[in-house]
Order: sequence, then C-alpha cells, then structure tokens
Amino acid sequence: MSETVLVIGGGVGGMSAALALARSGTKVELIDADPGWRVYGAGISVTGLSLRAFDDLGILEEVRARGHIGSGMRGRAIDGSLLFEVPADTNPAPIRSSGGIMRPALHEILSSHVRRADIAVRLGLRATEITETDRAARVRFDDGSEGHYKLVVGADGIYSDTRSMLFPHANKPRFTGQGCWRAIADRPPGLDRAEMVFGGPVKLGFNPISETKLYLFVLEHVPDNRRFEPAEQVDHLKALLEPFGGYVPQIRAALGKHSLVNYRPLEWLLLPEPWFRGRVVLIGDAAHATTPHMASGAGMAVEDGLVLAEEMARTQDVGAALTSFMARRLERARLVVENSVRIGEIEMSGGDQVEANSMLGDTMARLQKPY
Ligand SMILES: Cc1cc2nc3c(=O)[nH]c(=O)nc-3n(C[C@H](O)[C@H](O)[C@H](O)COP(=O)(O)OP(=O)(O)OC[C@H]3O[C@@H](n4cnc5c(N)ncnc54)[C@H](O)[C@@H]3O)c2cc1C
Repeated sequence: MSETVLVIGGGVGGMSAALALARSGTKVELIDADPGWRVYGAGISVTGLSLRAFDDLGILEEVRARGHIGSGMRGRAIDGSLLFEVPADTNPAPIRSSGGIMRPALHEILSSHVRRADIAVRLGLRATEITETDRAARVRFDDGSEGHYKLVVGADGIYSDTRSMLFPHANKPRFTGQGCWRAIADRPPGLDRAEMVFGGPVKLGFNPISETKLYLFVLEHVPDNRRFEPAEQVDHLKALLEPFGGYVPQIRAALGKHSLVNYRPLEWLLLPEPWFRGRVVLIGDAAHATTPHMASGAGMAVEDGLVLAEEMARTQDVGAALTSFMARRLERARLVVENSVRIGEIEMSGGDQVEANSMLGDTMARLQKPY
C-alpha cells in the first residue's frame, strides 16, 4: 500500500495540510495548477483563530515579522469620530490577538516552509482522474503521469476541480449580493489596530498589515453582480470612499493607477457532509468557502490541515480518520459560513447593526474554543 499523501492545491489550506502531515512523518506530494505558484497582491486580516493556527503550525513569529499583530479595535462614525474602543492587551495570547499581512508575504512564509520540508512540489499540474483500488487512490495527471496514494487532499479552493470529480452534483458557489473592494495604502499615524466604520452607505474597515502599510476593505451591495473592468476600479473605489471623513480623505487622495486595488464578488459554499469519499477528502474553501465578514476563511483552512494531520496520525484506518476529521470540522465550518452570510444579509437589507455586531462577537467568542 502506498504511504504517500497527495495534496492538490498549494494555497494556505493545502500548504498547511502538507506541512502538518510531513511533520507527523508522512511522505507528502503537493501539486498546484499555477506554474508560477502565485497569489494575488491583496492584504488579508488575521483573527485570533488564524493566529492560533499559525502558532500551532510554527509560523506565527514569521507572520508577526512580515505583517502586523496587535489586539483591540476601534469603531468610528462616518465622519471619523470615535464611537468606541476595545483596548489593546499587553502581550495577548494568539487567540486574543488580531492583525493583517499581505497575501504574498503569507504565501512566501508557508511555501518556504514547504520547500524546506521533505515535500515534493510539482507546479503547473492538475489531477484529471481519481479512481480507487482496494489499497490506494490512483490519480492521473494532465502531463500523462499517474501515482498511487494513501490519501488525496483536495485543497484546490472555491472552484475545486477535485470537488467536481468527487461530487459532480454538489451545489456550486453562490453569490451573496455583495462585492469586496480591497486596497493597500500608507498607514496613517494612530492607526495601530483594526478599525470599522459604522453608519456609512457601504461597510468600511482598515487593518494594519506592516509597520508602514494598511489594508482597507469595502463591502458594496452589487445586486446585479456586475463586472468592474480593471481600468474603472480605482475610480469606483474612490467614489465609494467619498462620504467618509477621518483618515479616509488622505487615503483616498493617494489612491491612483499605481495602487493595489482589487475587486471580488462574494460567494459562499458549505458542502454537506461527508467532505470525503473513499481516500479523497476536501478541505478549506473546496469544502467551506465563506465571506470575509469574520475574516476567518484562511484560519479555518489552516485548522483543517492541522486537524487532518492529527486524525491521520491516530490511526492507520483512513476511513476512520476522515470520519473523525469530519466530526471535528462540520459544525465549526457551518458556524463561520452561515453567520458570515447572515451578517452580509443584514448589511444589504439595512437591518439591525446591533444584531450583526452581537452575532459577530458571539461567533468569534465560540471560535476561541479549541478546534
Ligand atoms: C474578497 C475576499 C476577502 C477575504 N478576506 C479574508 C480575510 O481577510 N481573512 C481570512 O482569513 N480569509 C479571507 N478570505 C478567505 C480566504 O481567502 C480563503 O478562505 C482561503 O484563501 C482559502 O484557502 P484555500 O487554501 O482553501 O484555497 P485557495 O487559497 O484558493 O488556494 C487554492 C490553491 O489551489 C490551486 N488550484 C486551483 N485549482 C487547482 C487544480 N485543479 N489543481 C491544482 N491546484 C489547483 C490554486 O492555484 C491555489 O494555489 C477572503 C476571501 C475573499 C473572496
């Protein structure tokens, strides 16, 4: 029987699974469809659950060095005035911290660990067929090669081809009605923690991502799911920021063609259980893609990798390991996906902001429990 695990997809979830499995002594191969193994240039917010998972994976100090880790937050009104402040702790545990980092920096940290571990990485490669024998999963690749594996981990993101092969009739990702604008800007003095602006025509937030830079995001209601051409994106974002005061006019004025601005329609998916069939399992966005309302999609993908490696280390019975993995992950993923989507619905309907905030606070508190 093959003892090797194949991970399909070298994003945050796939790399975390590969590292955690390799750390427990498993032989791991990882493939990614992108020959350049790139990630787009946006920021990412990291919440307590993501930071705890980074700590458990052994990359927390590198994330701290390349990004920003702090705690506390501020809520502001549309004119920039302070509504409330959650004080920052001194030296908080990772689960009580929050922060941000550039996606390419996080990718570099993870991929350099993968390169240093004894993990065989092949790029520009896709799996085209997965069949099961008694003792292994047989995978054919699009370069004509094939391999036999003890376990195949589909970590190929929200549009997962592995999911299509495994569950061709599964629900497709669904558009929520909101789109997310993201931009990188210089960090103004005083912006030392996450900030959210309440009461504006769109949802706006900031997060420091390094000593000098911040990541800002805007959630816009886009009922017709229209496309925004790259050439119009900066002007559209500047128009959305126009009603805001405080730091915003200065940030807005500095946005131009040179700026990193990015737009993505928000989609979600929660695959019903099981997320596995035979020796093939789905993790991360391939199984549970969420909106950024809880900024926890990446952390959930890392947790998936850690839990999968733990359960695989407990038994030689792959089916039993995947059943235990499923039992630990489904309700946690449901909590994140369903409450994130619900908060977006409240925002789009102009509903009760107090309800949305208390759902956010309650969910984040529940997510502090061990995974
Ligand atoms: C607008 C937006 C903002 C977000 N903001 C945050 C945030 O602030 N904080 C947070 O924690 N999360 C955030 N998320 C969610 C987060 O980005 C995802 O949950 C996370 O990236 C999921 O990781 P993953 O490894 O499952 O998938 P991905 O990161 O999508 O990685 C998938 C990998 O698989 C590869 N691949 C794809 N198809 C194939 C194939 N057929 N064969 C081989 N390889 C393949 C891709 O090249 C890629 O490397 C946000 C999401 C969106 C859309």
